[in-house]
Amino acid sequence: MKDLKQHILKLHQISKALEPVESKRNEYVKQVNNYTNQFLNKIDHVDAFSSAQVNIQDFSIDSNKKSLREILKIYSDEVASKGINAASGGHIGYIPGGGIYTSSLADYLVDVTNEYAGIYYASPGAVSIENELINWMKSIFRFPKTAIGNLTSGGSIANLIALTAARDKHKIKSDQIKNSVVYLSPQVHHCTQKALRIIGLEDIKIRYVELDSNSRIISEDLSTKIKEDKVKGLNPFLVIASAGTTDTGAIDPLQKIGEIAQKNNLWYHIDAAYGGFFILTKQKKDSFRGIELADSLVIDPHKGLFIPYGLGAVLVKDKEAVYHSHHYTASYMQDSIDENAPVNPADVSPELTKHFRGMRMWLPLQLHGIEPFIACLEEKLLLTTYFREQLIKIGFKVGPQPDLSVSYFWFPSKIIDENLFNQKLMQEIHNNGAVYFSSTKINEKFVIRMAILSFRTKLHTIDKAIAMIDRSRKIIEKYFNNENKN
Ligand SMILES: *Cc1c(COP(=O)(O)O)cnc(C)c1O
Repeated sequence: MKDLKQHILKLHQISKALEPVESKRNEYVKQVNNYTNQFLNKIDHVDAFSSAQVNIQDFSIDSNKKSLREILKIYSDEVASKGINAASGGHIGYIPGGGIYTSSLADYLVDVTNEYAGIYYASPGAVSIENELINWMKSIFRFPKTAIGNLTSGGSIANLIALTAARDKHKIKSDQIKNSVVYLSPQVHHCTQKALRIIGLEDIKIRYVELDSNSRIISEDLSTKIKEDKVKGLNPFLVIASAGTTDTGAIDPLQKIGEIAQKNNLWYHIDAAYGGFFILTKQKKDSFRGIELADSLVIDPHKGLFIPYGLGAVLVKDKEAVYHSHHYTASYMQDSIDENAPVNPADVSPELTKHFRGMRMWLPLQLHGIEPFIACLEEKLLLTTYFREQLIKIGFKVGPQPDLSVSYFWFPSKIIDENLFNQKLMQEIHNNGAVYFSSTKINEKFVIRMAILSFRTKLHTIDKAIAMIDRSRKIIEKYFNNENKN
């Protein structure tokens, strides 16, 4: 007995390191605060991309301790300075994320208090806040009050939840899979095909619907394809539209697709991970007409609401369809079961234990109000127009008028094959790194994409980008001119 107590106390002497005293906590917070201040103070002046290698020997876990100072140095040198600087407004590639500062304070709060946000019983406050955020999004997208939703880690899991509900609602079980058909745009985000595989629908029939010159689904082609499949005795059950495709930001004709889905009894899913929050802007509100017809909808606050990575959302009208796969009980959960309690996040998601991610969205919305978010989205739309105008002035060609804030451009080189020229130009832009772009292929044409969504992308960022692109173009022109001479 005495031995046991002594042993416990001895272990306590070691394990108490996990509970730093207040003076130590203050010191830690001060160091992290100093580092993050330095980081933010120079964010406008550092490169948006570095292709330098990471020294992973600094990362290994061994019995040697490091001071927080050393750790922050490693973080700064090996993590924050390499790859894409996703906090930089110069990140104009892929779909930029957010990273507003006040979200980080929310994360700090909920980590210290360690809220368990999977079950209402465990943290009624946290779950109620998350449900309020879902209610807010339901109102934005004109979903009925009876719809349910979930805050996920991102758009991929949100899409997975929605597609699982579609599968369960239409009872696509093993004997149905080969006969069932889903209709997609070839421009749909690849997490859709991933999700279909994960949920056991790999062998389903996928029909890619034809697109117009702005990469939007041609709804007449959708109707035709559904009709053909019905004649063949197949089971069309799901159509997926995008409100802002990843590649070009295109918004499919949401209203028309919704009507076709209704008429043919298809589950209508809309992926608005990138574009959704533009519905809040005066300019683009009308482009989202018909979004309320969706059975399920995905939006990514870590994109269009500028929250740091780790926050997506799904809304689904049919609660039972979601519960079919995700609502489960076990005897060790018996204390927490209350059929009258508000929706538990764990009943709407593959996750059980989850950190209180809603706070990182709720706190900034409460603190700043909604207005700066909307202004920022409107600013991004105008910056897209400005960027395209400036590109034309320096001799570039630009893609069609974008639906939102993603567009593309290329240089119409006369000295060499255009694709070759623009590929080389992309490399040069990456080597430069001051501003980061990514590329894609549109109708076999190599083009450079611009996706303006970072809240830190400002007028001066675009001016910097234009100067850098112009310089890079001249370097590549010189390079190919010399090649031709040799
Ligand atoms: C980013 C994106 C996704 C994937 O979301 P993650 O948050 O990266 O998992 C899905 N669809 C669209 C349209 C996107 O832009």
